[in-house]
Amino acid sequence: MIAPAQSLVIVGSGLAAWTLVREFRKLDAQTPITLITRDNGDFYSKPMLSNALSSGKTAAQLVSATSAAMAQQLGVTVMAKTDVTAIDPVAYSVTTALGPVTYSRLVLALGADPVRLPLQGDAADRVISVNDLQDYATFRAQLEGAKRVTVIGAGLIGCEFANDLVQAGYEVDVIDPGTHPLGRLLPLEAGQQMQQALAHAGVRFHFGNSVQAVLAAPQGLQVELANGQRLASDLVLSAVGLRPRIALAKAAGLQTARGIVVNRQLQTSQTDIYALGDVAEVEGLLLPYVMPMMQSARTLAAHLAGQPATLRYPAMPVVVKTPAMPVVVSPPLANAQGSWQVNAFSDGVDARFVGLDGTLLGFALAGKATGQKTVLQKSLPAVLA
Ligand SMILES: Cc1cc2nc3c(=O)[nH]c(=O)nc-3n(C[C@H](O)[C@H](O)[C@H](O)COP(=O)(O)OP(=O)(O)OC[C@H]3O[C@@H](n4cnc5c(N)ncnc54)[C@H](O)[C@@H]3O)c2cc1C
Repeated sequence: MIAPAQSLVIVGSGLAAWTLVREFRKLDAQTPITLITRDNGDFYSKPMLSNALSSGKTAAQLVSATSAAMAQQLGVTVMAKTDVTAIDPVAYSVTTALGPVTYSRLVLALGADPVRLPLQGDAADRVISVNDLQDYATFRAQLEGAKRVTVIGAGLIGCEFANDLVQAGYEVDVIDPGTHPLGRLLPLEAGQQMQQALAHAGVRFHFGNSVQAVLAAPQGLQVELANGQRLASDLVLSAVGLRPRIALAKAAGLQTARGIVVNRQLQTSQTDIYALGDVAEVEGLLLPYVMPMMQSARTLAAHLAGQPATLRYPAMPVVVKTPAMPVVVSPPLANAQGSWQVNAFSDGVDARFVGLDGTLLGFALAGKATGQKTVLQKSLPAVLA
């Protein structure tokens, strides 16, 4: 397929791709846009995947606009169920099963793949992850008749699923090698309060432990832990992190690190190729959340429309969707020097990461203390000034 002379081709149809289209169309109604996506292109809010079960939502109910409706509304050609298998930066084209598609500018909004742990056992391949609508449909189908769910990983996504699952009436075991929930985001005291609240709601935590094997059992599955314990389970859900989909870019010779390396105009090392969302790494930062993606989409839209634009990240706290213990966290940057000052009370924790000169560099608020979010957010330095 030969695209028109000035054509924007976007690979992907997640929040990053569709947000970019929306923002770009506000500035440019004319340039032809082709969106090529491996899935069906429907628009949905991915964060709802981890809290939709208890409200009884099906995958179809999470779709807020179909691909066809989005295409019509925004004047976009959508090539759905179409995998991009290669990029040719010299010929300005991408390879698909339907033939090559040429671009004048290309945006890679490819997202990230769930990390798969190397597990042993004859049922290891029955472990699932939920990272898109199709996964969510599979998850719901496999929960039919199930009672017991094992969640691998007590990070943000693992805890959200655990809370949602207990709320929906399932027995839930969560396994994690760390010491407390959200180990990389929360100081111990805040993590412990969260653990207590989720445990009170019914979640059984197994910290300092890991899953070694998943075995088929006469009824359901056996999950074998490093300490030898075996848990009976009907479904095992893995939530141990995401890895940006960089293979396509790497094969095309684009600079990659943990993600596809981009500058503050979201430009890759290759002229006229950009990356956005979970797949993009900006100045060493991988921030796989909605707010950074929206900032990036606005910047890229302006840049593509010919306006001067430089990506800036203000402080962007993340709200953890665990109703048993609401948490808001704005972690300090990885190289931040300072210490946590923690004030724990009966119904919440106010933890602030304070720099050596006394400035606020991050926070973690749990329970009642989440009310402090707006005030504290204003005092935080920008993540990318
Ligand atoms: C369960 C869950 C809960 C979350 N909750 C929150 C939250 O509460 N708050 C928050 O800020 N963030 C949250 N996040 C993170 C947030 O949802 C993501 O940062 C965001 O949705 C990523 O959007 P994306 O468009 O970059 O990637 P994706 O949504 O993964 O989209 C990638 C797209 O690329 C397509 N694609 C990939 N490879 C190819 C190829 N080779 N050819 C064609 N198409 C391809 C895919 O089909 C897909 O359409 C959550 C994530 C998950 C998984």
